[in-house]
Amino acid sequence: MPLAIPSSLLPADGRFGSGPSKVRAAQVAALAAAGDPSAPLLGTSHRQPPVKDLVRRVRRGVAELFDLPDGYEVALGNGGSTAFWDVATACLVRRRAQHAVFGEFGGKFAAATGQAPFLEPSQVVEAAPGTVARLARAEGVDVYATPHNETSTGAVAPVAQVQDARADGALLLVDATSGAGALPVDVGDTDVYYFGPQKVFAADGGLWLAVCSPAAVARAEEVEATAGRESGRWVPEFLSLTTALTNSRADQTLNTPAVSTLVLLAEQVEWILAQGGLAWSAARCAESAGVLYDWAGARDWATPFVADPAERSTVVVTVDLDDAIDASAVVATLRANGVLDVFPYRKLGRNQLRIGVFPAVEPDDVRALVACVDHVVEHLA
Ligand SMILES: *Cc1c(COP(=O)(O)O)cnc(C)c1O
Repeated sequence: MPLAIPSSLLPADGRFGSGPSKVRAAQVAALAAAGDPSAPLLGTSHRQPPVKDLVRRVRRGVAELFDLPDGYEVALGNGGSTAFWDVATACLVRRRAQHAVFGEFGGKFAAATGQAPFLEPSQVVEAAPGTVARLARAEGVDVYATPHNETSTGAVAPVAQVQDARADGALLLVDATSGAGALPVDVGDTDVYYFGPQKVFAADGGLWLAVCSPAAVARAEEVEATAGRESGRWVPEFLSLTTALTNSRADQTLNTPAVSTLVLLAEQVEWILAQGGLAWSAARCAESAGVLYDWAGARDWATPFVADPAERSTVVVTVDLDDAIDASAVVATLRANGVLDVFPYRKLGRNQLRIGVFPAVEPDDVRALVACVDHVVEHLA
């Protein structure tokens, strides 16, 4: 029998995953309504007005949330952020990319450009997990890439142009998969700010969304025009950013999207806007994260994994436990009590808890979570 946590300590909702993350009941109710025969969205054509209107809601909502500068536009396509790495490799890197790598996700994008036979070897600026690597201007680099929030470690990087890189004509691509919509940002500092719907936006996975600057759009047009046998560059239609942009402008995707994901996403974007937008969302997540960092600071058996407070994520919080405590036993005991998905990123291999505190998560549930961890640690000992 696993240890039972007293029900008075348990959070109202036990979902603390770093993605897929908690989906709110109101989103699920909207999904049920979208399947109602009186005005169905689910099970209808994605080329007809009801679903196109849904895509329009998503694009408008994202534009409003990030207060898009003139000329920026919202593109979307199928395949998630992982697919977008290949889109960017095929369509945005002219010759050479530089990547900030300080965890698994940044490393995966670096591997994607590194394997492209039509590109020069990528530059990688690496930093140890739990810290942040900084991009630095270099000759011949035309794309700079960094994660905003490294979900595998809980480290957050400041989003800022690489000094003088824009004057060189280089682009800044920011993987904001777990940060977009919850971390403060000025997307005008970026050329592509891309993300998936299954983290901050509390939807299912499978889509990528990319806020693109005019320079990024122009780059895709230029680069895709060079594709062919002669250059050795291959741009499959599925990975074409210009094709995605053409479809997005018509409020559709190249091929069939998951309509249910779009419903959940539209609901969450509009909910965040109704609560007060990005500033509200960022403050709420910072409150939840603060509960966790304060708690870890007050326990002699818990330590925030990210040493520099300025680099600690306010959406994905990582806390190392003393070696005397088996974090996997804590995670399993929490799970047996309905408190879910607080395991560390598998490849990081640390004795750690990792907690997703996206805007859907109630700060009071985070307060309950730390009481549950205290209870488990005390009683497992
Ligand atoms: C989750 C995540 C990804 C992968 O997203 P998919 O939609 O599963 O491809 C990429 N980058 C970051 C920073 C992530 O958190």
